[in-house]
Amino acid sequence: LESKKNGKNQTTAFNFFMQELHNRMLLIEDALSTAIEKGQLQLHYQPKIEMPSEQIEGVEALLRWTHPSFGSVSPVEFIPIAEEKGFIHKIGGWVVREACLQWSRWNEEHNIRLVIAVNIAPIQLTKEDFYPSLLKILEETQMDPHYLELEITESSSFVFEEKTNIMLTKIRNLGIKISLDDFGTGYSSFSVLKQLPIDTLKIDRSFLKNLLDHVEQEAIVRSIIQLGHNLKFDVLVEGVESIEEVEWLKNEGCDYIQGFFYSKPQRPEDLLTLLKHERIETVTIV
Ligand code: C2E
Ligand code: MG
Ligand code: MG
Ligand code: MG
Repeated sequence: LESKKNGKNQTTAFNFFMQELHNRMLLIEDALSTAIEKGQLQLHYQPKIEMPSEQIEGVEALLRWTHPSFGSVSPVEFIPIAEEKGFIHKIGGWVVREACLQWSRWNEEHNIRLVIAVNIAPIQLTKEDFYPSLLKILEETQMDPHYLELEITESSSFVFEEKTNIMLTKIRNLGIKISLDDFGTGYSSFSVLKQLPIDTLKIDRSFLKNLLDHVEQEAIVRSIIQLGHNLKFDVLVEGVESIEEVEWLKNEGCDYIQGFFYSKPQRPEDLLTLLKHERIETVTIV
């Protein structure tokens, strides 16, 4: 009898939990639909470091949402909702425009030209007007396309459809770079990889877990780096947190590194401070 009672309590607790989760999702969905108009979105920028020079080569724009009552909501939570509800097209457009405006400001006011990478949800690529609106944003913001990069997760099979490939090729012909994000966790098969119109493989940070304690894990990461190079792609490893990982990756010929070891994502003004410090160092060395 006692255990039956417990079981019932657990079910009630579970239902309550599910109900709460569902309520939060509905509230977030509602709040997200007006986040742009209310000025609640912001981009932070995380440096990408070139190896072996260890210079900042570019940055990745990462979306931040601060809501007056929820506080800061992680993109891990709200991006899937935006994808599901179709807000992603509008939010994604805002992200590209904001990143290009930021590039133009840095260019004009500080004479700094960094490659800026933006994340694109695979479903955005299925919209007919993705390419024309990209052109429009480039024109309106005076962005030099050679400094723009799109990061596309391999988490969806859309990425590998012929229609998508044709569009990505058109985008690359503008001078924009394409990278395959979270590589190793999604849909790529070796046969499809060789014909993808991309420049860079970004190895997912889950591969760094226990990297240096397990020879098998080392063998996998080493093999992915070699595979990328054999297919003429650059290879970036994300989520690098320690000097030991940096040394190991440098030794394996990894082209770019990104992670908390070098820098967390920064507000634009803080990134500028960081860049200025790096510049001073460069000048001193010369
Ligand atoms: P992602 O594109 O793979 O971005 C990398 C994530 O790992 C970021 O989390 C970043 O802050 C985090 N990270 C970077 N270095 C380290 C590290 O050394 N250690 C650890 N533990 N984490 C690190 P964030 O900003 O929370 O973004 C999560 C995901 O949300 C992104 O993964 C991306 O898929 C998505 N996302 C973010 N901004 C956008 C956006 O503007 N549009 C779209 N469609 N998705 C976005
Ligand atoms: Mg990314
Ligand atoms: Mg990633
Ligand atoms: Mg990732």
